[in-house]
Amino acid sequence: MVINKKKLIAVCFIMVFSMIFAACSGAEEGSSTALPADGEMAAHFIDVGQADCTLVISEGEAMLIDAGNQPDDDLIISYLESLGIDELKYIVFTHPHEDHIGSGEAIINAFDVDKIFMLDEYDDGIEGYLREEIEYLDIETEAPYPGDTAQLGECRIEFLGPIYDYDDANDDSICLKITHGENSMLFTGDAGSRPERDMIDEGMDLEADLFHAGHHGSSTSNSYYFLRESNPRYAVISCEKDNMYGHPHEETLSRFNDLGAEVFRTDAQGTIIAVSDGKAFTFNEEGKKADRPYTEDPEEAKYIGNVNSKKYHEPSCSGLPQEENRSYFMTKDAAEKAGYDPCGNCRP
Ligand SMILES: [Zn+2]
Ligand SMILES: [Zn+2]
Repeated sequence: MVINKKKLIAVCFIMVFSMIFAACSGAEEGSSTALPADGEMAAHFIDVGQADCTLVISEGEAMLIDAGNQPDDDLIISYLESLGIDELKYIVFTHPHEDHIGSGEAIINAFDVDKIFMLDEYDDGIEGYLREEIEYLDIETEAPYPGDTAQLGECRIEFLGPIYDYDDANDDSICLKITHGENSMLFTGDAGSRPERDMIDEGMDLEADLFHAGHHGSSTSNSYYFLRESNPRYAVISCEKDNMYGHPHEETLSRFNDLGAEVFRTDAQGTIIAVSDGKAFTFNEEGKKADRPYTEDPEEAKYIGNVNSKKYHEPSCSGLPQEENRSYFMTKDAAEKAGYDPCGNCRP
């Protein structure tokens, strides 16, 4: 009963956000009467397997914290498009590891991006390509200092780390806190226990209602002293089922348990959506639900899109595209919001 109610609320939020963004972007005619949902903030911890990708929305402004692995690009782009998003005010790339920046290049090409927060350490390989693409698209970048702030809708963003220049790329993760009314969320990328300690010693205000568990729930992050300082009521862990690292580690789960924090996991629950009304968080599990807008599983897709022709088909249609040119949707609405038209033959 309670779960059904929560699911209903989740669907309502998605519908409301979709209407707002459709109205803002003019993507959907005739919805100009949709009113913005004032006073709310939503954080979507998108299920991208063993990787991080969090979407934060407040008052019609959106930001992305990290960008999944490279093969997640279609999934992330369709997810954002299904919400009607065509512009990102900010992207934060916490650190240049593939599971945090993998789809970055595709995402900055798919959406208008105002500004990217990233450190200056993007050298070779995928990180070098990303840096070159950012320069090519002429997107403003900033390497934030601890104490710097930014504003997203009604959310205040404060950067907390890295305090020092560490040898380890994980420890060099950008750390930030997002405050919405009386609610706050803390993100530390893959930073380990040493930068966690340094943020405490530096006197950073780490207290947060929601903590996005460090390093996918690794025991080398999420140290006791850090968790005691932050004292989160909720922990969200982004990781893949049966991942090769054993994330989240048992030690981490027992620390959250000792703290009395309620744990949400993308590997078990799919995409997690936390909605703040400025006073409390409500949680809605998206992702693995039957009525979610998108899927990454060809077997269960209700509609199959052709990324080139931008037509969507019934799975039984004789005119399906080659597999590498397919995108998958669970609803017609999601396909149409992503810019697809129905096929004239199978008439989905
Ligand atoms: Zn990672
Ligand atoms: Zn990493």
